Amino acid sequence: MKIHEYQAKELLRQYGVPTPRGVACFNVGEAESAARELGGALWVVKAQIHAGGRGKGGGVKVARSLQEVGEHAAKILGMQLVTHQTGHEGQMVRRLLVEEGAQIVKEFYIGMVIDRSKQRVVLIASSEGGMEIEAVAARSPEKIHKIWIDPVAGLTDAEVDAVSRQIGIPDVSLIQARACLQGLYRCFVEKDAMLAEINPLVLTADQRVIALDAKINFDSNALYRHPEIVALRDLDEEDPAEIEASKFDLSYISLDGNIGCLVNGAGLAMATMDIIKLYGGMPANFLDVGGGASKEKVTEAFKLMLKNPNLRAILVNIFGGIMKCDVIAEGVVAAAREVHLKVPLVVRLEGTNVDLGKKILAESGLPIISASDMADAAQKVVASAKGK
Ligand code: GDP
Ligand code: MN
Repeated sequence: MKIHEYQAKELLRQYGVPTPRGVACFNVGEAESAARELGGALWVVKAQIHAGGRGKGGGVKVARSLQEVGEHAAKILGMQLVTHQTGHEGQMVRRLLVEEGAQIVKEFYIGMVIDRSKQRVVLIASSEGGMEIEAVAARSPEKIHKIWIDPVAGLTDAEVDAVSRQIGIPDVSLIQARACLQGLYRCFVEKDAMLAEINPLVLTADQRVIALDAKINFDSNALYRHPEIVALRDLDEEDPAEIEASKFDLSYISLDGNIGCLVNGAGLAMATMDIIKLYGGMPANFLDVGGGASKEKVTEAFKLMLKNPNLRAILVNIFGGIMKCDVIAEGVVAAAREVHLKVPLVVRLEGTNVDLGKKILAESGLPIISASDMADAAQKVVASAKGK
């Protein structure tokens, strides 16, 4: 699960990480009064969306007067912000963060992720802040420093000081750098994060070290023990189809292609997407209806897939193990009737009661294309999607 920058900063402050003072705003009036209350002569108006690269896309603007704050706020709010992480359609900006501006002397990169092969959280630090870390890693790998943090000892003062010096933080600011890195690490562990990034961490003209940006992603499997994190969820930033799917306990992920897949079991769903691609097609979604899918669940799954304007054909691929093929066939027929299916539907059934299942499909009167095995099903659905 992702949260906004202003939420991540509020969280990091609880762990002693210094950040600029700032206020989340939802309209221009709020932005202007926030700037007035913050005081000073320099402000930053920042689009709050769940994607990075906002600066380059025009979503982060420095203002030198209250009037400029208002102008930037008016321009950024409601804009469809396109960054390298949003895709070309962009993301609508509904929230802003208005902050006191910082006098930046130098920008650094600090990130943490879990290194599964080492079974540790790894701290990644670089002198090249404000840029995409992937680009730094590709162009100048010697500028990336890593520390695999011992879960018992935690991130020690000695480790932080060493890495801070490597990236060019001056000695007078080492204590501040400790607050940033150790605070980030404690937050990462206590809140079950999967990724935490401060890019840039900056050195200011008065030699303070502060987090100018913050990004934290949390492990969804651990959210049951963090209601305070769940409360930060912003459904406007999530895919509506995926939110709808979670209500019906369906595992659904939207993809770019045009062939809808309805499958039982995550492994079979992955294999189904692979074989569609093998035969030159592109899946429109990942969808696992689970082991005990009812008629209602199958109907909801169809409705979800059909909301996608790119959909050109559907492949239902079911292995009846616990689930019986005749039950699934009844579900498919009922769903196809209810949603007035307009795209070709290819069905491949195998397993318990498969003959009865095929009979139900054949006698339904619906234009269902029956397939004998996975390869046959994939070829048929790819051809159907191409209109052949
Ligand atoms: P991102 O592009 O989504 O990662 O957004 P960031 O929060 O990292 O902002 C992008 C860039 O805007 C930073 O790398 C800074 O160069 C600049 N920026 C952000 N806040 C300030 C500030 O307070 N003062 C100045 N001068 N620049 C800032
Ligand atoms: Mn950033």
